[in-house]
Amino acid sequence: MIRVSNRRVKPTGVHALLPPATGWRVLQAPGRVTRAALGRVDHVLVVTPHRIPESAWRTIPGLKALQALHRRLGKDGTGRPLRGALGGSVPVTLGALPGTDQGSGKPASRTPHREAMPTPFALLKFAGDVVADALADEPRALAVIVHGFQADDEGRVTRAVLLALGARAWKAPAFRKESKPSSLRSIHLLGLREPLDLGRTLAEIEGANLVRWLTALPANKLSASTYRDLLGALARQQGWDFEWLGEAALRKLNAGAFLAVAQGNATPDAGIARLRYRPKGTTRRQSPDLALVGKGIIFDTGGTNLKTAPHMLDMHTDMSGSAVALAVLQALTALRSPLGVDCWLAITENRTGPAAYKQRDVITACNGTTIEIIHTDAEGRMVLADTLALAGREKPALMLDYATLTGACVYALSERYSGVFTNRDVLNDLLVRAGRESGERVWPFPGDPDFDDDLKSKLADVAQCASGGEADQILAARFLQRFVPEGTPWVHMDLASALRKDGLGQMPGGVTGFGVRYTLALLLDHGTELKQHAG
Ligand SMILES: [Zn+2]
Repeated sequence: MIRVSNRRVKPTGVHALLPPATGWRVLQAPGRVTRAALGRVDHVLVVTPHRIPESAWRTIPGLKALQALHRRLGKDGTGRPLRGALGGSVPVTLGALPGTDQGSGKPASRTPHREAMPTPFALLKFAGDVVADALADEPRALAVIVHGFQADDEGRVTRAVLLALGARAWKAPAFRKESKPSSLRSIHLLGLREPLDLGRTLAEIEGANLVRWLTALPANKLSASTYRDLLGALARQQGWDFEWLGEAALRKLNAGAFLAVAQGNATPDAGIARLRYRPKGTTRRQSPDLALVGKGIIFDTGGTNLKTAPHMLDMHTDMSGSAVALAVLQALTALRSPLGVDCWLAITENRTGPAAYKQRDVITACNGTTIEIIHTDAEGRMVLADTLALAGREKPALMLDYATLTGACVYALSERYSGVFTNRDVLNDLLVRAGRESGERVWPFPGDPDFDDDLKSKLADVAQCASGGEADQILAARFLQRFVPEGTPWVHMDLASALRKDGLGQMPGGVTGFGVRYTLALLLDHGTELKQHAG
């Protein structure tokens, strides 16, 4: 039995707003599945290719029941999980991956035919559906048997199932008397050829769930000051340096773009958080390999240009970008990344009121750029402008930012994809590939310099946005690029898929946690290419 303990975020008691520790653990028992192992669980999830040889069932006890279930697939259609029971009592969910065929069961002389696996996104979506069925009865101990796949696919499918379990066994914050935690305590991976290293998968689950937790918190619970306290508590746990640039400090830095947004708040508690992770053996003084920047608008009313109620309803989620940056930092820390990472979070509300900033105001950002305000609801690019400029001063080798920035990006892509923008065109293919491989899909937009014509101002160096909404996601990226040093490769992610009512991939409806798994794929699977192209 191999135990993989899940890295958990343990609240120190100072802060009730930290996400609760993950309540389940993963146990691996490779090799033949035994009756004893099945006797220890109260639900079994079996995932197979759509067609497998009859002989393949022999390594699982309860052969007949499973075989009978699998035969029903032809009649009951594909893709939908089927229910049965092992030994007449333990409930089983059988999910057969549509379109896959791992051998026809004909004599061994014939080369087994193998159809292509579905895309990573489709695999995650499938895993989400079968896991939803397996968790419906709220099991405490769940066995997962991924069976009949070739070796590399076995690992891929198992990880997808685990990601789906991490997504679906999670409970959103609730402030109700009767809210109860997930029943799931243990996941037993049975029958694998060999044990899997699940460190990264677990870090991806923790990361996405941290984003989901923080983003789902209402703005009166996660205020700028409680967010600051929470970051301090997390930094102590994780061993990060933590610095809070409050409004007075930002005034000294001439961060006028950030402060213009913050000036409408009821309390002067906005600020830019800086968290710093350095691998063992490196000095604090070394330039970071990576700067992560996130938009943390605690609540976005639109400001003086007030939103309507339906558009304002979910605006407590406008800090999602900051949660993604934080979760990426947490995941890299958990994986003991050799990269030195700075993480900058721009945290404020965007409110109305007598002090709030207005149209045609002229603001000076910390790099000296003057900005003419066109629409107060374009606050994200304002707070990011100063934050990117401050992050850029540390000369990171790469800068990534995350923001729920524009409605235009959602209109262009829907919530299925997020938009990516970069000051290194050569990276675009790689950015798309990392999206396809991780199942968190992204699409690039053009960023030719002539888009800047739409940001011309008679009053200031640049207009904050155009008065019409045309290609606002591109104009926002062009605006932000002014605050990124030219020598710094930069990728901006407009998180159109931060929130999706119908769910996305393995995620159920709500906050998706989109961006964490994507970034790990980009940094960990494509680090060398990234370096080559980005330099
Ligand atoms: Zn806004």
